[in-house]
Amino acid sequence: MESWSSSIHLGHITVKRNNQMKKLILSCFAALLTLQAASQQLKTENVIIVTLDGFRWQELFRGADSTLINSAFTKDTSAVKKKFWAPDASSRRKMLLPFFWDVIATKGQLFGNRDLGNKSEVANPYHFSYPGYNEIFTGFPDTRINHNDPTDNPNINVLEFINKQRGFEHKVAAFTSWHIFPSILNQNRSKLLINSGYSDVNLPTASDRLKHLNEIQHKVPELLGPDIRLDFLTYEFGKAYLKQYKPRVLYLAFAETDDLAHEGNYQFYLQSAHKEDGFLKELWDYLQTEMQYKDKTTLIITCDHGRGELSDKNWISHGKDIPGSKQTWVAILGPDTPPTGMVKTKDTIYQKQLAQTIAGLLGFDFKAAAGHPAGDQIPGVFK
Ligand SMILES: [Zn+2]
Repeated sequence: MESWSSSIHLGHITVKRNNQMKKLILSCFAALLTLQAASQQLKTENVIIVTLDGFRWQELFRGADSTLINSAFTKDTSAVKKKFWAPDASSRRKMLLPFFWDVIATKGQLFGNRDLGNKSEVANPYHFSYPGYNEIFTGFPDTRINHNDPTDNPNINVLEFINKQRGFEHKVAAFTSWHIFPSILNQNRSKLLINSGYSDVNLPTASDRLKHLNEIQHKVPELLGPDIRLDFLTYEFGKAYLKQYKPRVLYLAFAETDDLAHEGNYQFYLQSAHKEDGFLKELWDYLQTEMQYKDKTTLIITCDHGRGELSDKNWISHGKDIPGSKQTWVAILGPDTPPTGMVKTKDTIYQKQLAQTIAGLLGFDFKAAAGHPAGDQIPGVFK
């Protein structure tokens, strides 16, 4: 009875509501068409993500640091100076990271040069690895993720989301030096192909190259302990997998920059960053020779946290109590990214924006599907 009478008395409101509903449906439809049109215009069909664990923006934008080169943290000062030292920062950073400065800085975008007022940082309050990688891949700086333990991540990540989209099934893979990634990316739930630490690639169709890597990785000295594979092996595994299986999304997670910094070895920290820059160049050059990847692949490179400032003890570490640890950087290179080079606007981007950016480059909306809060895509990376 009650609803009957209210529909009589409130008849005009019902009509108004119907009109509002029509308007809402029409605007949703228009938004959907715009989204579709935008995704159709994008050239990116593949995304490669690379992380350099705990590598500082200071070395990326300023090159090798003279205070650290001349401190007890550098054993062979003259060797480091010879390889990485020039009086001006722009020459110095090019000596350390030639691919970043010859290619990305001219054809892509670099975020996080605080000397210019452009900032990139983590939104999570912890400033170490699991919370950082969780933020990058789930878009959600979840305060439950406040540890580095091998416990399964409850949050959906963008890699597993993409792996479920049509045309991307079994076309997403991760190769990581640190052994915790199967937990961070919740392999038990996501069923992603994740090869971590000193584990073998056990695919029945694996190439001889992959089988050879399986064999030799157990023969190298475990210089970073049994849980952290040396980065050149992670890279070689990822490259061999890419060549054979042609994934549409590949993630390579390098660890040495963080571990060597913790060991207080500035010479090797620089050397690892330099080698990894070389891996990126080799990978990028290879992509340009393959039909599937050439002019259709976006490369995103970033880190999971920053580390301390110059004062000796702070440089080797990071965490919520060490100033500078939230400071990160992001590099993007691809066919949809305007070649603005070093971003000079006085804005701040956050690692939590990367998940939606990765999905958006492939025409997907991760944020709408994640089931938890997630950052918006980074503005200006693509139209
Ligand atoms: Zn660390």
